Amino acid sequence: LPVDWNLQETARRRDTYYAASQKKFVPFAKPMVFKKGSMQYLWDEAGNRYTDLLGMNVCISVGHAHPKVVGAAMAQAQDLTHCTTMFYHPVPAHFAEELAAVMPNPKGDIEWVVHFTNSGAEAVDLALTMARDYTGNADILALRTAYHGPTAAAQSVTGIAGWRHAGMPGNVAFVAEPNQYRGIFGENAGAAPYLDEIGRTIATATTGRIAGMIVESVQGYGGIIEMPKGYLTGAAERTRAAGGLFIVDEVQAGFGRTGDHMWGFEADGVIPDIVVMAKGIGNGFPLGAVVAQKHVAAPMAEKFMFHTYGANPTSCAAGRAVLQVLREDRVQDNARTVGAALLARLQDLKQRHPKIGDVRGRGLMLAFEMVKDRKTKEPDPETTAKVFEACRESRLILSKSGPYQSCLRMVPPMCLTMEDVETVAEGLDRAFTLAARG
Ligand code: PMP
Repeated sequence: LPVDWNLQETARRRDTYYAASQKKFVPFAKPMVFKKGSMQYLWDEAGNRYTDLLGMNVCISVGHAHPKVVGAAMAQAQDLTHCTTMFYHPVPAHFAEELAAVMPNPKGDIEWVVHFTNSGAEAVDLALTMARDYTGNADILALRTAYHGPTAAAQSVTGIAGWRHAGMPGNVAFVAEPNQYRGIFGENAGAAPYLDEIGRTIATATTGRIAGMIVESVQGYGGIIEMPKGYLTGAAERTRAAGGLFIVDEVQAGFGRTGDHMWGFEADGVIPDIVVMAKGIGNGFPLGAVVAQKHVAAPMAEKFMFHTYGANPTSCAAGRAVLQVLREDRVQDNARTVGAALLARLQDLKQRHPKIGDVRGRGLMLAFEMVKDRKTKEPDPETTAKVFEACRESRLILSKSGPYQSCLRMVPPMCLTMEDVETVAEGLDRAFTLAARG
């Protein structure tokens, strides 16, 4: 079918035929259209090249249109595009085995099992049901400034005001996020006071017996909020003591992005009961998964739970290729070394630009937080928006995030190079300078 690449015409079609909700999530002041992507780069319809620091919202783990991933998916789509789980197909079965093999198993006694979904939100939704079915309890703990997705259940555990709609399911108690820059216990307060908060919340705002707690190992939309040392381990202990399961959302942080580990939670040495993954798992192909300890996943099977496209072989073929590329190209090592170099350059920028209040993250999961004043830490969404727009002139794509839209988040395809780091640092420097001029 013919495609009309005219930007105005695309804008008109969107305006006329998209629901308002689908149109709204357009952060740039002027519309953009991308015609091509290759590895860490994107090209607009006029042929301008951009360095992609957003990876189409963390979906592009190993590179836009990575030939191995596209090749695997194309070959599968040509043979058999879809096959529901009521029939046996070896591709998702292989992929489940390969995913189980990249889960932590220090004593070799954990049997990891996989339930494939189409998206992260569905995986979150399923994980909550799994925890409730396993424990027989209803209450879930979630963190403020967490984002877990757009289904009703995933929204119910999302703790950012801008994403909360009316009438979401209940049985959720929110706990203060252990933010080490602007959390309720002040700067660098560590894990302890926030762990006490979990205990207090269970005691005061739940029935006392919970189904589980869900956390992102590094909060993404919250503005790249890392969990302080000991927090995930302590949170898991408190959750289990109240009868619940510990659920970690690795939708943004997983697949080596944090550099040191395959999964963000591994930095704290904790073993979750349930792990939720999506986005980077398929490098752009729609795919999500709940990976759980076998005994935890069993009770949910007392009732049917069927995702029509879950374990779709085309997406699973892409997923298998992603794991292969991660291994063969040592992608996690690249995320660690290139991420460290980029972080160092971001810290240099903080010396030069007073509106940068904080620079944080690890691996290729990094952010600036913009403030009006470093002492008061008043969030500065206006300057954030200006820098964000100016980045476009520097041919950089990144994202605004955080509960106040005052963070600039960088989660690029993990094939970013040292050379790109220089381009990015110079482009950001220009953008900050432009934004400061008004
Ligand atoms: N969890 C996290 C941490 C996410 O960032 C997202 C998506 N931004 C989701 C869950 C939901 O994933 P999806 O959009 O695929 O439903």
